Amino acid sequence: MSLNYGRHLVSIPGPSVIPDRVLNAMHRASPNIYEGSLIELTDSLIPDLKTVARTKGKLAIYIANGHGAWEAAITNTFSKGDKVLVLGTGRFAIGWGEWGRTTGIEPLVLDFGKSSPASPDKLEEVLRQDKDHSLKAVFVTQTDTASSVTNDIPALRKAIDAANHPALLMVDCIASLGCERFEMDEWGVDLMVAGCQKGLMVPPGLSFVFANERALAARANADLATSYWDWVPRMDPAGFYQNFGGTAPTHHLFGLREALDMLVHEEGVEQAWARQEHFAKVIWAAVETWGADGGDLTFNISDPIARSRAVTCIRTSDGNGTKIRRWCEDIAGLTLGIGLVADTQGSDEWHNSFRIGHMGHLNVPMVMGTLGSIDSALKVLDIPHGNGALEAAAQVISEV
Ligand SMILES: *Cc1c(COP(=O)(O)O)cnc(C)c1O
Repeated sequence: MSLNYGRHLVSIPGPSVIPDRVLNAMHRASPNIYEGSLIELTDSLIPDLKTVARTKGKLAIYIANGHGAWEAAITNTFSKGDKVLVLGTGRFAIGWGEWGRTTGIEPLVLDFGKSSPASPDKLEEVLRQDKDHSLKAVFVTQTDTASSVTNDIPALRKAIDAANHPALLMVDCIASLGCERFEMDEWGVDLMVAGCQKGLMVPPGLSFVFANERALAARANADLATSYWDWVPRMDPAGFYQNFGGTAPTHHLFGLREALDMLVHEEGVEQAWARQEHFAKVIWAAVETWGADGGDLTFNISDPIARSRAVTCIRTSDGNGTKIRRWCEDIAGLTLGIGLVADTQGSDEWHNSFRIGHMGHLNVPMVMGTLGSIDSALKVLDIPHGNGALEAAAQVISEV
């Protein structure tokens, strides 16, 4: 018997659940793109996005997914042959560096594996050895969505400063923006990339590059810049069309306006971080319980301090990760995230992990529904697990 009849839930690390309000804001006729409210609406997005990023720096918006923002960040700051140091803590910072290879940059990976955060001491050591300052930047994710690790960005900044190295600190917050504390200016981040489809609750299609004075200065010498990705006209447009290098993404702008009303003006960014943190702890309590008494589920990131507040990667044995996902998808009506900690898709290891996305528009029934579906899958599939995960989760919820 299938029980899959009500509204389908995605608990994946992006795209996240889109609030009905955002969908409804997008459901309208095409607007005038030459004058009037769309232009004012677009102008109003900029300060709110900077509020979320905690920066007084500049912002360029792209009609693109996160990969587009990656490319924009690279082409506006580097020249052919420039070396960048990539802090590998899963998949995404490494992916960012590799993405740049065709533009002509050379990514060098300092790999911390798939279950640990980047070590500031190791970073400092490597930068000290780079005496002629050939490394132009450090690439790191705040949350690596594959491993669900969270890197300590202020500590990495301190390491760069301690080595007295001029490399730019460039941070991928695509998974974490709006989900965990991030202070671009206070933490000394030079450039940050983000997308709209995770913590910002909008369908995929917009991405953002935030840059401080140091990153803006790098643009002057960057010979990789091309017309479409050039951030200069986007940051200081002479006409409205320059904001987007062509036609504006009209309906995404309506959706983003509504989402920022919710995040910045109604809930508040600090409150959103606190809610995300609380739901993360609820989910961790359940996972910890499932793993007790010889249970088959374990955290990919054992240290809670290094765990993401937006996504949790869980390891299993016996292909159980895929089996749990399949049951949840087909019978329960819940999509869970595929595992991304294995090197080869479809390998045995690949079937031994899955991820719970918990970013953005979440409440108690959504989180408990996700946990309850997984708990049911464990019972139906006869997968060894500790009992009482839902009680443990409810207990944490009650401590709000
Ligand atoms: C989702 C994600 C990306 C990729 O974004 P796309 O929109 O799929 O291009 C990059 N980095 C991180 C950390 C992500 O979570």
